[in-house]
Amino acid sequence: MSFTSLGLHPSLLETLASLGYLEPTEVQRASIPAALAGSDLLVSSQTGSGKTAAFMLPGLHRIVSGPAAARGIGPRMLVLTPTRELAQQVQKATNGYGSAQRLRTACLVGGTPYGLQLKQLSKPVDVVIATPGRLKDHLDRGRIDFSRLEVLVLDEADRMLDMGFVEDIDAIVARTPATRQTLLFSATLEGVVGRLAQRVTRSAKRIDIAPSRAIEPKIDQRAIFADDDAHKSRLLDALLRDTEVKQALVFTATKRSAEALSGALVERGFAAAALHGDMRQRERTMTLQRLRDGRMHILVATDVAARGIDVPGISHVINFDAPRQAEDYVHRIGRTGRAGRTGIAVTLLAHREKYLMRTIERYTGNAMRIAVIAGLEPAARPVGARVERTSGARPAPRGGAGAPVRRDEWKRGGSRPANSGRR
Ligand code: AMP
Repeated sequence: MSFTSLGLHPSLLETLASLGYLEPTEVQRASIPAALAGSDLLVSSQTGSGKTAAFMLPGLHRIVSGPAAARGIGPRMLVLTPTRELAQQVQKATNGYGSAQRLRTACLVGGTPYGLQLKQLSKPVDVVIATPGRLKDHLDRGRIDFSRLEVLVLDEADRMLDMGFVEDIDAIVARTPATRQTLLFSATLEGVVGRLAQRVTRSAKRIDIAPSRAIEPKIDQRAIFADDDAHKSRLLDALLRDTEVKQALVFTATKRSAEALSGALVERGFAAAALHGDMRQRERTMTLQRLRDGRMHILVATDVAARGIDVPGISHVINFDAPRQAEDYVHRIGRTGRAGRTGIAVTLLAHREKYLMRTIERYTGNAMRIAVIAGLEPAARPVGARVERTSGARPAPRGGAGAPVRRDEWKRGGSRPANSGRR
């Protein structure tokens, strides 16, 4: 099936062709015709499925096909996203999809000065992409006019609810015209998301795209068991000093531990930095830019901050703290293996966290390989485990065990870590 059969405006089809989009993805095939027919939609889909175009293309079609229903300068389409990074990514995609029409977009996110946002809102705008908190601020100050609003999108609704935005979302939705079309996208449509969906949509068509739990086969998934925190730090050090590591994204459970760990890595000679929600937007953008430029090799991030990171150079994702939810695992490791490359995902686990590994495996349907680093074996051998010896994060040859890393290889690429004595 090609895009031409979906009923999109010819100018959008031209843009898609110029972007090299040959065929719609599954979520696009299901959502675009239904949205063009005017239905509200509830769509379960994951990042990476092409969901941005699934809601943006029918929205842009509406904007380019018909005149605005009401006078005013406010947006005709509003997209709410959980994080600043995702909002910026959606804005970038929108500017690409709407390039032929020179659509005017505004991105209203926290952590950035109000001045520029107010300036953008003082002129006509077609699409606003916003995080709920900052948008609610603008609404409360009477800075934004929704009288022309035709399409409301809630992107990653589950995540927005997880982040405590429910009241802001309800307040924002209450200020939008009742005639709007609402498109809700979420990894899950059950529970609290289902209740939100009932409040904000009317006779919505439900589209369930089989959750992309399946991990890209090009991502090699490993688990390494650690006896305690000190052991975990030594394992991380060894993994990061592997010459195969081009750029690594390291996940921690909290903002504070992201800061502490990136600081410790810098002290040990790594080009590392932290990315988390307490940083100002400018800092976050600059940090990501340094990663993209290759000036920084290791980014230590929290789940929320890392949403939407799309940096092809990330060869390794290391879960320094194991994710609490299997869904987060899928999001995390999807940050590697981008743009057709291969990637390696390593999850460090305390022995008592073995159940997390099982939960993740049940969710993804993939087995993780249990690996050890020579010289850094855990004191307790994981029960019932088929252990594969591996040289840090270097891929093991097919059907065989990887060569154990030599202890002196640690010296490569930086000073020997202070805490690297034999266990
Ligand atoms: P998303 O799930 O919206 O974050 O999209 C994931 C990636 O797929 C983005 O880099 C998009 O540019 C790309 N993409 C989305 N739809 C298509 C398509 N139909 N053909 C090729 N690439 C696409």
